[in-house]
Amino acid sequence: MIRKLFHRVFRRGGPLPLGTPGKPGLIPLARHGIHRDSVSPGARRTCEALQKAGYTAYVVGGAVRDLIAGIVPKDYDIATNATPEQVRNLFRRSRIIGRRFQIVHVMQGSETLEVSTFRAAHDADTIKDEHGRVLRDNVFGSMAEDAARRDFTVNALYYDPTTQIVHDYHHGVADLQQKTLRMIGDPAVRYREDPVRMLRAVRLSAKLGLTLDPAVRAPIREMADLMENVPVARVFDEMLKLLFSGHAVECVKRLRDDGLHHGLLPLLDVILEQPLGEKFVLLALTSTDARVKAGKSLSSGYLFATLLWHEVLANWEIRKARRELPTPALYEAMDEVLDQQGEKLAITRRIAGDIKEIWALQPRFEKRAGKSPHRLLEQPRFRAAYDFLALRAESGEIDQELATWWHDFQMADLAGREAMLLPDSGPKKRRRRRVKKPADGLVHAGDALSATESTVSDED
Ligand code: ATP
Ligand code: MG
Repeated sequence: MIRKLFHRVFRRGGPLPLGTPGKPGLIPLARHGIHRDSVSPGARRTCEALQKAGYTAYVVGGAVRDLIAGIVPKDYDIATNATPEQVRNLFRRSRIIGRRFQIVHVMQGSETLEVSTFRAAHDADTIKDEHGRVLRDNVFGSMAEDAARRDFTVNALYYDPTTQIVHDYHHGVADLQQKTLRMIGDPAVRYREDPVRMLRAVRLSAKLGLTLDPAVRAPIREMADLMENVPVARVFDEMLKLLFSGHAVECVKRLRDDGLHHGLLPLLDVILEQPLGEKFVLLALTSTDARVKAGKSLSSGYLFATLLWHEVLANWEIRKARRELPTPALYEAMDEVLDQQGEKLAITRRIAGDIKEIWALQPRFEKRAGKSPHRLLEQPRFRAAYDFLALRAESGEIDQELATWWHDFQMADLAGREAMLLPDSGPKKRRRRRVKKPADGLVHAGDALSATESTVSDED
């Protein structure tokens, strides 16, 4: 029995060195496994240059956490006791950014490292809003204080590439190895200081396959409303991180389980309750996850087009039922949905443009006669619009036959495409005739439908 226990402890290398308040556990290479060669050259060079100039400098936060978990970090943060000015003076290719939280971007080759000065813990002087949200925390502090103001224990790890030692103030390495996401301090207080931490808890636990410590999970449902006080741009940034994390499906499911989806994703609560909408959104997120994992490019326009599509459809249906003309009604529906959601989601003009292009091309897939299909193929946004169409078919919103036809049409050569075209249908010709201006040169009310439709079908 004792031998068994001994073996187990021995095999694992015994308990990890624990820190005491204000003093970190010093974890050697053999216990965390981050060899300096696995750290990006830019991060290493930045730490070495700061250390050579007499400062302390560590790789910190997500990068250390990811390296221990065997994930390639997407970027590196460096923490130092040098002030932003001092950092700026040390690196030729660097610039100070941010006014409230000054950090320095240091360029090393193609890498950009984010270098921040250790920040002080919050105290009675910290400026907060009426809900307890911290509005300002730009006071420099010690490394221990800097560790205490980070969110989760696994994010408060400092790796020194020179000594290859991890400085662990809050038992983050042990938590990571035990696959637990634990908050530093009282979770309710930490959520009040910054409600975005609730979203981060969901995203990071999905990304790293960690279980939320019950204390981290418990207050979320009750405190979810605090998200409403967070500036939209910040929520949008976090949402993009979440949606493009490669674990969007998992995250969205967890958000829903924790009651956090209200007001975060565009009416995700409503969308997910409509059977077709839910299937469509989940299919879109599944394909986004697959693209992230395959290292393919992603467009936020495309993703938001999928998230909002069933809103547009619902709005469009109402308009059509009011006998509005289909094409103008679609444009009105698009604008109204973007107006409602755009502000909440901080969707930029450029992204809104991308979204609209994808939506506006959808009705054109229905036209499979004459020159229209060839013209559609030439549209710069054809690929995205076609992927969108395929997703609509997969979700059951439209007939699979249409998406298959367009798939085959793209694959075929010119003669094959000609052969695939459907016969020019009668009504179109009739519409054309009706568009013709009468001798008096005026377009009469009854002609408006045909005029608009022919514009959409062929002219653009
Ligand atoms: P990823 O890079 O995978 O998105 P991350 O944890 O590195 O995850 P960043 O936004 O890059 O996220 O933040 C870097 C570090 O800054 C975190 O690891 C954490 O230590 C600290 N941090 C970020 N956001 C917060 C927050 N809201 N509250 C406290 N600390 C935070
Ligand atoms: Mg990071």
